[in-house]
Amino acid sequence: MSKSSFVCLAAVTVAAAYNIDARQVSGVSVGTSAGPQPTQTSFSFTLATTNPTAIPLASIVSNAATQATHTLATTYAPGSIPTVVSGAPPLPNAALLAPSNYPALDKVVPTDSPEVQQWIKDVANSGVTIPDFAPTVDSGACGSNAAAVADTTRCWWTCTGCVTATDITTCPNKLTWGFTYDDGPSPYTEDLLQFLDQNNLKTTFFAVGSRVISFPNILQTEYMGGHQIGVHTWSHPPLTTLTNDQIIGELGWSKKVIKDVLGVTPLHFRPPFGDIDNRVRAIAQAMGLTPVIWTRISPQATFDTDDFDLHSGLTTASHVLQNWNYISGNASIIDTGFILLEHDLFQQSVDIATGYILPDALLHQPPFKIVPVIECQNKPLSDAYLELNDNSSNPLPSGSVPSSSANAAGSSTGSTGSGGSGSSKGSAAVATAGLPGLGAVFALALAILAGTTLLMS
Ligand SMILES: [Zn+2]
Repeated sequence: MSKSSFVCLAAVTVAAAYNIDARQVSGVSVGTSAGPQPTQTSFSFTLATTNPTAIPLASIVSNAATQATHTLATTYAPGSIPTVVSGAPPLPNAALLAPSNYPALDKVVPTDSPEVQQWIKDVANSGVTIPDFAPTVDSGACGSNAAAVADTTRCWWTCTGCVTATDITTCPNKLTWGFTYDDGPSPYTEDLLQFLDQNNLKTTFFAVGSRVISFPNILQTEYMGGHQIGVHTWSHPPLTTLTNDQIIGELGWSKKVIKDVLGVTPLHFRPPFGDIDNRVRAIAQAMGLTPVIWTRISPQATFDTDDFDLHSGLTTASHVLQNWNYISGNASIIDTGFILLEHDLFQQSVDIATGYILPDALLHQPPFKIVPVIECQNKPLSDAYLELNDNSSNPLPSGSVPSSSANAAGSSTGSTGSGGSGSSKGSAAVATAGLPGLGAVFALALAILAGTTLLMS
């Protein structure tokens, strides 16, 4: 997918014309939008252009043949000094990352380790009061947790859309896109990075700790290239289902492995599935992490392309592109910017982004300003990291504690391979259906990527 082959043409109609219809407009004004329904079998959309080298839509399916991935355009030697953000420490030696110094991949972390025990003490000493809510059950499914849904003091975003002042769900400036990719790094991240480089785009990568262990060099290339790095937990569980100590462990280990690979600690995190309530928020605050979710203008109009479900076959490429049409249409008429959920774990998600969504987005009229989340908040990239944040434009949340460094990066060689994890339900399904069945979806995804059977705890 070379830059020269990306030709900006007048509107290329890929399917039947798409109109910003009454459903969408009503979704903005009165919150009654009815997005595309999962039972539909055909979907229409229009794109301004597509990438000439795009994978055909008919090939972006769950059983797609594995494609060769691009190799990283640039890798960085240990000790390299980041140039995209001032004051950053030298890059650690990723080859010294020892998986044996970290929890098992893709399992909720144990809480009896010295590291987690220290983080538990840090949180207790932070001064932040942790609400006494019982963990949710059944993977956080809304229908199985009626009392939690009804409890407004819990402010459970997943099932009610409730947000607090500290949640980042949008960008303040109209047409500004807080650009994010979740669940990597993965081999397909390299393809995405190539497209982003060719088009001078920077994004925010919310990295899963277990994937960082597997692909530390890719995380380093993301960071050194000026992309923002955020936390997306260690094993990608719905956080409201965990105990306080487990949440602390999931956030703590993912912070730590990113610090060990990059030399800096993220100050932002995205809860897997957007599953956050006031208990999770308080623990994150005590650990110096600000939540970033995604834009939701009505229960049915969330800014989620549902690209994650391409891999499993729960959705189709044309449905994802229709979702994208709805989202870009809504993004054009709301008074703020927006944050969109996309993923870089599977080739199907990357294929639809680089082949279709991003080429269309780059030609959008009026133009989108596409930037990492930290920049869409009108803050410098340095404010994305604990060690570089000077507290002037980005004062840390009250009660934040320094990242604990109970263990050194370790020794020996990094691991290879291993699975992935995902995020999100369909754009209409998040708010209405919660999270049922996602554990099984991720277990399947992990098994496919890792070539083995892994179960989500
Ligand atoms: Zn995710």
